[in-house]
Amino acid sequence: MSRLLIKNGTIATLGQGGRVLDDHGILIENGLVRRIAPLEELSAVEAPAIDAHGKLVLPGLINAHMHFYSTFARGLYKIKPSANFNEVLRNLWWKLDRALTLEGSYVSALVALLDGIRKGTTTFIDHHASPTSVRGSLSRIAAAVQESGLRACLAYEVSDRDGPEVAKAGIEENAEFIRACQKGASNGDSLLRGLFGLHASFTLSDETLKKSAERARELNTGVHVHVAEASSDEESCRKEHGTSIVERFAKMGMLGPRSIFAHGTHLGANEIDLLAQSGTKLVHNPQSNMNNAVGIADIVNMSEKGVCVGLGTDAMTCNMFEEVRVATWLAKLNCKNPSAGFCEALGALFSNNAHIADEYWQEQKLGRIVEGGAADLILVDYNPPTPLDSRSLLGHLCFGVAESAVDTTIVGGKVLMKNKQLQLDIDEERLAAQARELSAKVWEAF
Ligand SMILES: [Zn+2]
Repeated sequence: MSRLLIKNGTIATLGQGGRVLDDHGILIENGLVRRIAPLEELSAVEAPAIDAHGKLVLPGLINAHMHFYSTFARGLYKIKPSANFNEVLRNLWWKLDRALTLEGSYVSALVALLDGIRKGTTTFIDHHASPTSVRGSLSRIAAAVQESGLRACLAYEVSDRDGPEVAKAGIEENAEFIRACQKGASNGDSLLRGLFGLHASFTLSDETLKKSAERARELNTGVHVHVAEASSDEESCRKEHGTSIVERFAKMGMLGPRSIFAHGTHLGANEIDLLAQSGTKLVHNPQSNMNNAVGIADIVNMSEKGVCVGLGTDAMTCNMFEEVRVATWLAKLNCKNPSAGFCEALGALFSNNAHIADEYWQEQKLGRIVEGGAADLILVDYNPPTPLDSRSLLGHLCFGVAESAVDTTIVGGKVLMKNKQLQLDIDEERLAAQARELSAKVWEAF
């Protein structure tokens, strides 16, 4: 039996009835949180201990919309200037993803995953595209996930933009990977999960959508798709299909609690109602929306209407603390009200992302520290300069903790980073050199 004791820190459990506990410890046993108890009750326990003095113990953070492969876009200076979102896709992302090899998919993912460990992000819901090397791409990324020790739910983005053969390969890639994950999960694999990925309404024919939705249903899973990221996506849907995107997807049977719709920057009232009624998850990506100048998703209105709004980064960063701060400022600005948006933005990361993860990792109870749940924990350097309790916690998280350094990252009881040093058998210098070499080749496409 493997055991680990976390002691002397302040624990913020989050989750329902979340508590802030001083003078408590967490006993981890075989990857699970076995006990959360006062230190004197745990004093007789024999286990290696981590001293969390001067640190806040939090559940590992969850990024609900990510693209690992965008690692290779960092510093890419040769992109033609774009006047709108469709040009951003054509001038940057669709050139980059076509140049990605299986090796590139693996290396770019591993770099992002290690960054996740450093930033305290322990679970990623990723969306992948590599149209010239579709088959086998998800299992290569899965290998990187396993090496990192983090959790990830992977999807391949099916699209008709590269022709029918590539679309077909994407459907098969999703189906095969989801089946492998389901088999893995029944054999106790708790790191990897699969979702059926689709690009966006404007690059998907009815035929491809129908086939994909059918396969997702057969596999008893949801879809992970971009929805109304730019206004042009809605305009093209109305023009081509005479309906809104969410109505189009609803007709295909793509809505439901396990489906993730990313962005939702330009949803109409009827679409928001459909998301709320069906329990479809909406994932907000504020930094990306600002970077692409596509608009602001109204998370306050969507939350009021009953939509479960989570938070992703769309690969702008692996740092969820950074994203949640931006989400907070942007929601206030959007409402032109300094008292609005705080709870919706903080709730997206610290509460709703856990609900989203529950759809794929039911037993693990990710995103909160609870007895019987997975021991996915982070220790953040933090000496609160004002009283810290359950009433002040969100304020501390947003204005203080979010700017502090993550010291220790633990997933499933395994210590992946300690004293800010990765505890993995990975040569990071070599990995970075490999990434530079592969990305330089990708950049030749520009
Ligand atoms: Zn995205």
